[in-house]
Amino acid sequence: MSAPGGVLVIAQAEGGALSELSREMLALARRLADETGGMVEAVLLGENLGDSAGDLIAFGADRIHIGDGAAYTAYLAEAWMPKLIEVAADAPPAVILIGHDTMGADLAPRLAIRLGTTVATACVEAEFVAGRLHATRSCYGGAARETLSFKTGPCVLTIKSKSQAALDRNNGRKGEIVPLAADAVQTRVRIVERNVSAAAGVRLETAAVVVAGGRGLNGPEGFKVARELADLLGGALGASRVACDLEWCPASIQIGLSGRTVAPELYLALGISGASQHMAGCGGAKTIVAINNDPTAQIFKSSRFGIVGDCQEILPPLIDALRVLRDAKDS
Ligand SMILES: Cc1cc2nc3c(=O)[nH]c(=O)nc-3n(C[C@H](O)[C@H](O)[C@H](O)COP(=O)(O)OP(=O)(O)OC[C@H]3O[C@@H](n4cnc5c(N)ncnc54)[C@H](O)[C@@H]3O)c2cc1C
Repeated sequence: MSAPGGVLVIAQAEGGALSELSREMLALARRLADETGGMVEAVLLGENLGDSAGDLIAFGADRIHIGDGAAYTAYLAEAWMPKLIEVAADAPPAVILIGHDTMGADLAPRLAIRLGTTVATACVEAEFVAGRLHATRSCYGGAARETLSFKTGPCVLTIKSKSQAALDRNNGRKGEIVPLAADAVQTRVRIVERNVSAAAGVRLETAAVVVAGGRGLNGPEGFKVARELADLLGGALGASRVACDLEWCPASIQIGLSGRTVAPELYLALGISGASQHMAGCGGAKTIVAINNDPTAQIFKSSRFGIVGDCQEILPPLIDALRVLRDAKDS
């Protein structure tokens, strides 16, 4: 049993490696646990997890509960819940952190109900104030932030990607690894098929450059141009919700409040108005450069550099110039 005030991170691994969001949550967990004097524990369920337990320790965890086996190949609430309850009951934490993604959105409320507590989703910050946990998240479509405190414990939070900076890897850290039996659980739900969409190019969440297009790209052809620009810059392609809703690009690349969150070095916004719901997903970018033909567009208020003009006129010569640079580098 750990000291009270501990933090439990429900971690995830992708392809045998700890996910970026798990590392970010560990940094937050470390900060919270250091305030209370508690431990950072992590639970990781999956199959072929490699040295993910070692990674969890190197990135800030003190004790890892790991279940590696076919029973945990893919997330299934019915199969995972008994193990998560077992871990939470064995060492009751003050706070439970879960990634704000598809799995977290399903798991967090279920876990909170089973533990007789409540959940705050899509949090971007958490801290103890006078011994009480305060969690911050955006509200009113990203136009404001609200801070919540809990009357019940443990406090279950889902944490948005890129809201925290992961700690540097420390291979010298020591931790305890507790294996969990990977016993098969009889479930009412069965996964019959999994279709993983092939992600083209660089991953959005880790890209240093994101080229994002909106309604101002005027159609799927405009997105082909944006894709070429992203490739030339070694970046990833993103989009506004309107562009996704119009099916000019896949919904999986939507950036914003109801899409993905990115924090690249450079965010190039092409024909995007800059609605608060869009900016909620890219406001953490180091430098935003916008191209928009409306000089009063909201996006210019958040941009470091702005070009007032038509994307159809500006992008082709820009792409030509980048091609020349690339070819000169290659020759
Ligand atoms: C609950 C909720 C959640 C939402 N979640 C999201 C979200 O996650 N992500 C998101 O993006 N939106 C989200 N939205 C929608 C959001 O409010 C905006 O409607 C959306 O972001 C607008 O997309 P846009 O900028 O592409 O289109 P528009 O607002 O139509 O803007 C198009 C821009 O392109 C410019 N333009 C037009 N032609 C050209 C040209 N040839 N060259 C250059 N510029 C040009 C125009 O001046 C304009 O500024 C959400 C809304 C709600 C209510």
